[in-house]
Amino acid sequence: MGEIIHLSCEKCDFKKQLRIGAGMLSIRASVVEENLLDEDLQDWKRLQEQDKIGFFSWQYDLAYCDSCHDFQSIFDVNIKTKEDEQIRLGGRCDTCHKQLQPLPKGVAITCPRCGNTDVRKIRVGMWD
Ligand SMILES: [Zn+2]
Ligand SMILES: [Zn+2]
Repeated sequence: MGEIIHLSCEKCDFKKQLRIGAGMLSIRASVVEENLLDEDLQDWKRLQEQDKIGFFSWQYDLAYCDSCHDFQSIFDVNIKTKEDEQIRLGGRCDTCHKQLQPLPKGVAITCPRCGNTDVRKIRVGMWD
C-alpha cells in the first residue's frame, strides 16, 4: 500500500499533501498507460509491441523540481527488459514535465518558500 504524506513548514505557511509508494494495482499495465505522458507513453507502447518488457514496477516517489520550486509526487516506472536492460520512464514534474530524481529516503526536506531545513513530514493516510 502507498502512503499519503503531509509536508508542513513551521516557519512559514508552506503545506503540501502528496502520495508516495505503490498501490495494490502496481503490476497492472493499464495503470502505467493512464499515468505516462507523451514520449514516455510512446516508449512504453513500443516496448510492449516489441514484447521487450520482462518485468516492470511503478511507484510514486517524492521529488523536488528546481524549475517549479516545489515538491511533487512523481510517477516512476522501472522496466527490466528481457535482455536485462534497465529503463526508467515517467518520473516527471506535474507542472513542467521535466524528469526529476526521487529524493533519497530520510533526507532533510528544505522548505521551498523560506529555506527552513526542518520541514515536517508526517504520514496522514494510506492508499491502494
Ligand atoms: Zn517555510
Ligand atoms: Zn517542474
